[in-house]
Amino acid sequence: MVSTTAGKVIKCKAAVAWEAGKPLVIEEVEVAPPQANEVRLKILFTSLCHTDVYFWEAKGQTPLFPRIFGHEAGGIVESVGEGVTDLKPGDHVLPVFTGECKECDHCKSEESNMCDLLRINTDRGVMLNDGKSRFSINGEPIYHFVGTSTFSEYTVVHVGCVAKINPTAPLDKVCVLSCGISTGLGATLNVAKPRKGSSVAIFGLGAVGLAAAEGARLAGASRIIGVDLNSKRFAEAKKFGVTEFVNPKDYDKPVQEVLVEMTDGGVDRSVECTGSINAMISAFECVHDGWGVAVLVGVPNKDDAFRTHPINVLNEKTLKGTFFGNYKPRSDLPSVVEMYMKKELELEKFITHEVPFSEINKAFEYMLKGEGLRCIIRMTA
Ligand code: NAD
Ligand code: ZN
Repeated sequence: MVSTTAGKVIKCKAAVAWEAGKPLVIEEVEVAPPQANEVRLKILFTSLCHTDVYFWEAKGQTPLFPRIFGHEAGGIVESVGEGVTDLKPGDHVLPVFTGECKECDHCKSEESNMCDLLRINTDRGVMLNDGKSRFSINGEPIYHFVGTSTFSEYTVVHVGCVAKINPTAPLDKVCVLSCGISTGLGATLNVAKPRKGSSVAIFGLGAVGLAAAEGARLAGASRIIGVDLNSKRFAEAKKFGVTEFVNPKDYDKPVQEVLVEMTDGGVDRSVECTGSINAMISAFECVHDGWGVAVLVGVPNKDDAFRTHPINVLNEKTLKGTFFGNYKPRSDLPSVVEMYMKKELELEKFITHEVPFSEINKAFEYMLKGEGLRCIIRMTA
């Protein structure tokens, strides 16, 4: 399949964030052809993740505008740049905010997914090749976001940030595996690794936390305790195997103490999926001494500092953290898609809203109000 647009600039619609916290504006943008080791993708479905909202609100390191956000998506390869051999036009793919070059020490290590070349960089708004953006309006650059910028009908992505998946997988469902759901699932299955029959606390019952709960259920945990400040989350969480709920607001002592009492000494594992520094500290302090492991997933605020008494560490509580659930995007994501295809993993229950691209700002409203989990944005009518 040879595309008729290959090598040409494509004019298409993109949702541009001109300023921090202001509604996105659908604009006509020009998308340059992919350069060496890049691919141009036609995005069919994208969804909104908390990380987009967070950098759009400019709570992150460097506010960079105008910018095209979006990093959870599914699409089809439109054309490939020089040197790209393992992808071709027509392939079904999930772009990923962190990459896998397959050549660096991290990519060669079985333990790491922190690729030297392509690990997440929220400050960079340009492509690695030439330090330039592939998006423009009247010749003025519009910046990229985490190398994906999927709130556009077409985008250019480094080949190392693209996972080729089963072409029969429905992209309107598996697009959520491109970030949040794989992140939560992997944080439990690959990093926390709860044993069968153990207790797991999940802090934050958004899509990422509920995917972490799903991982705990798959691992055979017998107690899955959900912790969230938003009580509306609790009813939904039952569908994800959460067995007990704790709202820290209902207690006049720190939530870690509540959990330690509930579990006779602490939970075996905890996974933090909130982005709140207080929740991160509670998630660490609530694990059992001797063997407890806490895994941080939420993206902290710029000036946050993690403060705990070192005796907690001496008492053999372990603190870990992870990006993208320790999955290597190109090598591992296709098999997570297969988990869905084999019905081991349900994705439908994460998808609570769907809007056409023209109403993308509604997806932001749902997330800001804490309503629902994932809102799918349909790029084509
Ligand atoms: P979300 O906003 O849908 O869910 C977060 C939940 O945390 C909400 O229900 C909120 O009420 C709850 N919460 C907030 N503060 C809390 C506190 N102090 N105690 C208990 N609950 C609290 O977000 P999401 O899309 O599920 O993402 C969750 C976090 O994971 C975000 O910080 C996001 O940026 C991060 N994230 C990290 C990675 C990674 O690779 N490490 C990938 C994706 C997302
Ligand atoms: Zn690498």
